[in-house]
Amino acid sequence: MKNYAEVKQTLCEMLEELGGRLAKITDDVRHTDQPVEKDFAEQATQTENDQVLDYLGNAARAEVAQIKQAITRIDKGEYGLCEACGGPIREERLKALPYASLCIQCAGKIPR
Ligand SMILES: [Zn+2]
Repeated sequence: MKNYAEVKQTLCEMLEELGGRLAKITDDVRHTDQPVEKDFAEQATQTENDQVLDYLGNAARAEVAQIKQAITRIDKGEYGLCEACGGPIREERLKALPYASLCIQCAGKIPR
């Protein structure tokens, strides 16, 4: 069996970086102590910003979940195997996306 210690290290670093990014996003969203904008257009912009930040936050949270799953799979010795078909995930794909849980064929079939 392959040694995925290095991959695990990379994943842990990604987690840390994402954690920092998430904290920053959460900080940006939390502006409830500020007075409500009087200008209507400004308010709309504010709402739009919140939506973008919300989206970024959700994307980052989804990524965190995937990375954590990948780390669990390394610990269980299942890393590098497709969750759908059980086949091996190609190394190039894992290099590009270390937390990939599906092989390229299955990832193409299942909409995310
Ligand atoms: Zn597959």
